[in-house]
Amino acid sequence: MRSRATRTRRAATAPRRRPLNTGAVFWLEQAIAGEAGAVACPPLAGAASADVCVVGGGYTGLWTALELVEEAPDARVVVLEAGACGFGASGRNGGWMTSWVDELDGLADRFGEEQALWLADESSATIGRIEAFIGEHGIDCHFRRGGGLWVASSAAQVAIVGHAIATAARLGRGHLIKAVSAEEITARTGTRAALSGASIEDSAAVQPALLARALRRVALERGVRIFEGSPMIRLERTRPATVVTPAGRVEAGEVVLAANAWSAQVRELRRTVAVVGSQIVLTEPIPDRLRDLDWAQRGTLLGDARLFVHYAQVTRDGRIAFGRGGGALGLASRVVPKHFYDPATAASVAADFRRWFPQLARVRLTHAWGGAVDRAPGHLPFVGALGDHSNVHYALGYSGNGVGPSALIGRILARRALGTNDEYATCALAGGPPGYLPPEPLRFAGGALVRGAVRRAEEREEAGRDAGPPGRLAKRLVTFSLPPLRRRPPA
Ligand SMILES: Cc1cc2nc3c(=O)[nH]c(=O)nc-3n(C[C@H](O)[C@H](O)[C@H](O)COP(=O)(O)OP(=O)(O)OC[C@H]3O[C@@H](n4cnc5c(N)ncnc54)[C@H](O)[C@@H]3O)c2cc1C
Repeated sequence: MRSRATRTRRAATAPRRRPLNTGAVFWLEQAIAGEAGAVACPPLAGAASADVCVVGGGYTGLWTALELVEEAPDARVVVLEAGACGFGASGRNGGWMTSWVDELDGLADRFGEEQALWLADESSATIGRIEAFIGEHGIDCHFRRGGGLWVASSAAQVAIVGHAIATAARLGRGHLIKAVSAEEITARTGTRAALSGASIEDSAAVQPALLARALRRVALERGVRIFEGSPMIRLERTRPATVVTPAGRVEAGEVVLAANAWSAQVRELRRTVAVVGSQIVLTEPIPDRLRDLDWAQRGTLLGDARLFVHYAQVTRDGRIAFGRGGGALGLASRVVPKHFYDPATAASVAADFRRWFPQLARVRLTHAWGGAVDRAPGHLPFVGALGDHSNVHYALGYSGNGVGPSALIGRILARRALGTNDEYATCALAGGPPGYLPPEPLRFAGGALVRGAVRRAEEREEAGRDAGPPGRLAKRLVTFSLPPLRRRPPA
């Protein structure tokens, strides 16, 4: 039997497995704590009118509003936000600002090489535009252009990364994505989880909530009227359209729906995305432990090539934020409480963190939180007009990659709302949903089955085993969609 002294010593040094602040979003806490004197945006009361009414105050809505007033300085722009700006995915994500250069193969398959290159180049240039915007407006959102390490932890992932590197090289973008060895990844990050990987040169790390709240500030400075605590409860699909909130209404020539996962409750968009959780755990500050590691010094992102992707960054105060996609599925594509904090998934993400960094086994986890992701069959955002209502625009489907792309999508939405017929307004992503998911209850039941099989397949592969036929089938089914129902021609 162990002595009491030994037991006490063990208890004192044993890692605390459960994070302390469950559900509390570190990024938002930090951003709001530094906001003394910020302009209040009280709820809409009564009737208002606007040229454009944007629904949703995350990155997409705020970039759209900023693009609108940039292009048309006299435009009257109103943003309606259900809660507070940045409290959706924009304030709670992993802070990975990436382009689509690693998606060139999928983009080329769907849209052809010319459009694939346009989208990849635009998404890359967008990171530069965000960097310039941050500089111009004195925004301190811990932006660091340290690139990203996209690693492979199984043979299947080695093939995915290798294919992306080869496609980028073939299409003349090899300077943006380069092979790196397992040894280099270990030397730069301390993890031994990788077999090989790629260095993605144009990526940046950001404190996501500081960026979202700064966009709110600049939008207000530029004359955008923002009403927080003002959810759209009804949309009158007329021309002009009317957006109704609990205490007011906005009549607007054009409406932009930018409510991300919540947009899936708009009836025309109901089957366009699955709403799933993504969860993050955060360590206590350990700057001394990370001091000699290149990724901590340069702000290099670290993640893998799984479908249920792992993603990590080191914060400015020396914490590791480590997340994983593929969390709870929302019935009927709803945002559910489990998306914001799911104890079982958070524990499993914490276990993954310990597996990636066994040398940090005793480091304490201080926070665990999550958010809702709008997962589209094509894994890329899409923009369109709502049915026959060409004055109601929407964008969703970021599929967990929206920090950088939302600024490009904001430009596309703004150009469409202003009726500008340019390369943004007419790009390949502006053709509406790539497909439709099955109706409920099939969507939820089938989705849960497929996702369980994918999770098991990826775990088997990382243990050096074959995914097996069910695993391989499930991985293909993740992108399954149905074509839109054809309308009967009027009699
Ligand atoms: C945990 C997590 C980690 C992620 N990590 C990354 C990452 O590292 N890199 C990356 O590129 N992407 C990541 N993403 C995805 C990225 O955060 C999103 O794609 C991006 O923030 C989408 O911005 P948005 O403005 O469209 O949506 P949101 O930020 O969700 O904004 C939508 C807003 O609409 C509001 N709203 C909802 N309903 C209504 C209504 N009825 N009326 C008015 N307003 C309404 C909401 O309150 C919300 O503020 C992550 C997402 C999550 C959840």
